Amino acid sequence: MKQWISVCLLVCLLIGGADVATAAQGKRYDDRDIVYMTFDDGPRAETLLLLDVLKKHRVKATFFITGKYMKGNEETLRRIVAEGHTLGLHSMTHDKKLFYKSPQSAVNEMKRVQQLIFETTGVKTNIMRVPYGSVPHMTKAHRLAMEKAGFYMWDWNVDSLDWKRKNNQRLLQYETIQRVRMNRANNIASVVLMHDQSTTPASLNYILRHLKRERYTFRTTAGVTEPYNFYNKWKAGKSQ
Ligand SMILES: [Zn+2]
Repeated sequence: MKQWISVCLLVCLLIGGADVATAAQGKRYDDRDIVYMTFDDGPRAETLLLLDVLKKHRVKATFFITGKYMKGNEETLRRIVAEGHTLGLHSMTHDKKLFYKSPQSAVNEMKRVQQLIFETTGVKTNIMRVPYGSVPHMTKAHRLAMEKAGFYMWDWNVDSLDWKRKNNQRLLQYETIQRVRMNRANNIASVVLMHDQSTTPASLNYILRHLKRERYTFRTTAGVTEPYNFYNKWKAGKSQ
């Protein structure tokens, strides 16, 4: 009888512990006050300016790396790592036709850039963002192949549109900050998409100044095993 009571107690403790662990993890990656700053299409010359701005504000970010830009920018890649940021994968070619040709071609490109990053920095990352995001080009077969290969796929829920609004920085800054605030109101974290390009560092500086004033916590995607993506939203219907 005593043994049964012990077993019951143990089971209750384990179940209770699991609940607590789940709640804690939920809080950790998807808290309303968390912002993930993410940058695609580097490394390029502009990446250095982004790193300066991030350092000034003491913010850590995630850089999704495109393999074709790595040659000649190896030092930049090492600086990203040395300054505590996270590296992710963003394909080799960034070519829609080549990358999405088949599930295997997509996986192969990610594995190749993963290997190049490892050779350059010693960092092995399995965090990735596919070119143009997981909708509409990723089929279910592509997704399953990526999962099977062990990649964690990240999209975004705040598109800064920095590629489109090069001549309207004020609008870009205002809308980005507003969308982060909306996510906070909807109790989800923000994943902000920006690019390694000429006008972005100045806007980043403005956006970070405001978000820090509003007491957001900045995180990188490292170690988050519940990535935000378009088909697996943290809280269905509350984002995008
Ligand atoms: Zn891209």
